[in-house]
Amino acid sequence: MDKEIVICNIDGKDSFCEAGTTIFEAARDVDVIIPALCYHPDLTVTGACRICVVEIIGEQLLYPACSTPVQDGMKILTNSERVINARKLVLEMILSEHQTDCLTCDSSSECLLEKYAYDFGATGKLFSDQSNNPLRQQIDDTNPFIRLERSKCILCGKCIKACNEWVHCDALAFVNKGNKLIVSTLYNNGLEKNKECIFCGNCINVCPVGAISEKNAVRAGRSPEVEKIKTICPYCGVGCGIIVYKRDNKIIKVRGADDSPVSRGRLCIKGKFAFDFVNSPERLTKPLIKDPDGNFKEVELIDVWLLIKQKVDEIKAKKGGFAGLASARCTNEDNYVFQKFLRTVLETDNIDNCARICHSPSIAGLSMTIGSGAMTNPLEDVDEMDCFFIIGSNMSSTHPVIAWKIISRIKQGALLILIDPRKSELSNYATMHLQLNPGSDMALIYAMIKVIYEEMMHDQEMLENRCEGAEEFKKEIDELDFNTLVSKTGLDENDIRLAARLFAISGSSGIFYTMGITQHVFGTGNVIALTDLALICGKVGKRSTGIYPLRGQNNVQGACDMGAIPGFLPGYKNIEDQEINSYFSDKWGVKIPDKKGKSLTEIFSAIENDEINFLYIMGENPVISDPDSDSVVAALKKLDLLIVQDIFLTETASLADIVIPAASFAEKDGTFTNTERRIQRIRKVIDSPGKNILQDWQIIQQISELFGCEWKYQSWEDIFKEIKDVTEIYSHIKIEQIGKGECFWPGDILGHSVKRLHQDTFSRGKARLIFSKLPDIYKTTRQFPFLLIIGRLYEQYHTGTMTRKTSGINQLQQSPIVYINPKDALKLKVRGGELVKIVSDKGEVEVSCRLSLDVKPNNAFISFHFKEAIVNKLTSKDQLDEYSKMAGIKVISVNIIPLKK
Ligand code: SF4
Repeated sequence: MDKEIVICNIDGKDSFCEAGTTIFEAARDVDVIIPALCYHPDLTVTGACRICVVEIIGEQLLYPACSTPVQDGMKILTNSERVINARKLVLEMILSEHQTDCLTCDSSSECLLEKYAYDFGATGKLFSDQSNNPLRQQIDDTNPFIRLERSKCILCGKCIKACNEWVHCDALAFVNKGNKLIVSTLYNNGLEKNKECIFCGNCINVCPVGAISEKNAVRAGRSPEVEKIKTICPYCGVGCGIIVYKRDNKIIKVRGADDSPVSRGRLCIKGKFAFDFVNSPERLTKPLIKDPDGNFKEVELIDVWLLIKQKVDEIKAKKGGFAGLASARCTNEDNYVFQKFLRTVLETDNIDNCARICHSPSIAGLSMTIGSGAMTNPLEDVDEMDCFFIIGSNMSSTHPVIAWKIISRIKQGALLILIDPRKSELSNYATMHLQLNPGSDMALIYAMIKVIYEEMMHDQEMLENRCEGAEEFKKEIDELDFNTLVSKTGLDENDIRLAARLFAISGSSGIFYTMGITQHVFGTGNVIALTDLALICGKVGKRSTGIYPLRGQNNVQGACDMGAIPGFLPGYKNIEDQEINSYFSDKWGVKIPDKKGKSLTEIFSAIENDEINFLYIMGENPVISDPDSDSVVAALKKLDLLIVQDIFLTETASLADIVIPAASFAEKDGTFTNTERRIQRIRKVIDSPGKNILQDWQIIQQISELFGCEWKYQSWEDIFKEIKDVTEIYSHIKIEQIGKGECFWPGDILGHSVKRLHQDTFSRGKARLIFSKLPDIYKTTRQFPFLLIIGRLYEQYHTGTMTRKTSGINQLQQSPIVYINPKDALKLKVRGGELVKIVSDKGEVEVSCRLSLDVKPNNAFISFHFKEAIVNKLTSKDQLDEYSKMAGIKVISVNIIPLKK
């Protein structure tokens, strides 16, 4: 129903707005900016500061603009003498309790109180010093990241609201009453002991005065002395916007970008604090060549170029066998140039990136069913969803900003069906949490589909008009025995029935998943089953529905878009299609391979079999991240030539023959594509720490020139223009508009970005329902009586190469830990903190254990971030997913043996 429109007049300007709009918002709509300290557009209104008072003609009192709705015919003055005097008085009262050390305050010139005091002429001298509350003199900097200086706090409460309303962790609260009121932690026990705090720093972002600030940025530089550069967080696929504060070529702090359409100022701990790696003294600054004794010696870039030319020519002449690993950490431009180098100079399609071991089943499964492997809807659709179906995803750790957004919606009444063998933060908000047996997802989904058919909750119109294969699919489902499916999951059948009903009958439901679904040798089948569920219920192709395979790394979507995967040229064009192959060969001026190359998981086996002799790795660390780490190491050692370009001498780089230092994200211009298919601009913040450090695409271009290439890219824009030229799904994007953050791929016929896929027609025409054979679920044996689930932690990231350079993060999560159920601990006779050995049929690692009720008996959980215990020594790549070549690295059977020392 249309809302009533009212007309009011603000400082002589007519404002037309919906009934219920506040004076503050109505004024902003006609470009009248009202000062405020406690107001934030994304937080609830408290009307605490009273700076925003306005005069309503005919009313005796002044009213706070932030909490007073406009009424039809209202005449409002925002700058009358009464208003100005009132504001000045309020400011004098606030200043009387505020430590006015503006000369040395880090927030000077960004501080709203300082600005308003200047604007209204408030001096802080009108009232005597009221700050007689000793509690307000305290500074709390007992934690690794955040400093709370209470003498500056104006009690606006924004930090508490950001903590509660955005992050939902309730770490901050007002304590005491009257003039003893202070901002503190829930039990006033200080930030160090406050177990609720997850150090996202969003409290800092909203503080108007700098009472809460970055501990490590004290006296590091104030606004006039620093440069602020807007770019994108280099960690996960959410792609939050960040503002980097730089001084003397150093990053001094990072704030959330309020105008980021993805994150609107929110960040998690990594995007806020994990940037010490950029200025780390451990950064590679000189190229390294390994001598015959196995020692690295520093050389000049020219020496490296000459050696590469010589070695590549030798290998080409003798036996060939080239392969390359591109990087989901690098820009689209880096990846585009890298795959072009592999295909045109090294004449191989053996190119892949780490998507192989995260979302390759999504690309395979979604392409087969709906025609596009990408996330179907934008994240903004979360705000209108009625039901979230989250399966195989500990999103609060892996994609925290999305998890917080979903929790906000749940608090408004949306439902959450959570499917995960482990308890997680999201369990606290779940309408129902089904702790199924690890790996039984497909059985659960098919059981739900059976219920949906039986109870006629399917979307007949969708099945008849927009899908093919519906009848055959239903026949297969009919033949499945419901009780057998239920028993595979280990769940109560009534819970499965209820989950099916809630999902099917909710108005708008979305399916969210990450690697709990994909990292199995039956990952593609899992993705297909989820798509079947969405199609049968009509929950795809519409606003606020859809399938959300949340991408792990910052630019894993872009790396795949750019063709850094075997068999697919930029824009997912099939390299084996002769017409497409000729098109790219013409564009690049060289005949490119016409047979699909090897995937990442196949490349290491091919090295063992002498099929690949030269591997070029750009910004990846497979020794830690890839399955069967020992065999990865053995393969890398066996190569005739291993080149690694990276920002650190990683565990993989240390095995290389040639190491080339590369620029970090903060030293680059270009684009990342986030999990939504949103192309975002990253900007150079600082100069690299050495003249030998080039951007990744520059390194590859220099090497290509040795082989006669004349690409002549001068900037990221030159490369992006070529990407647009050859990549249909990027062709509509206007370079000058990327900075606004509203460019998605693909474009429609009018050249507009398509935010929601499959609305009128699926990318493959009709969607296809596919039945997959149920896989064997994971089993324990006498030899291996535990199922070990491998995942990520909130604080650390991937192989730890970047996050572990930040000491504060290491204080929070410094060593590898296996989490086991207390019942198992009793059986094993181990206590929390004691060392255990985890043994699989591939290898063993030693870690300390922690007792946790989040894992079920006979299950265990470990993260893979730590080089001290390389968890991938335990995993295998002997068996791969038929379609995507994914290895089974999510769940493995192990034994856990106490190590009494
Ligand atoms: Fe960075 Fe992801 Fe955290 Fe956002 S959610 S700040 S993109 S790591």
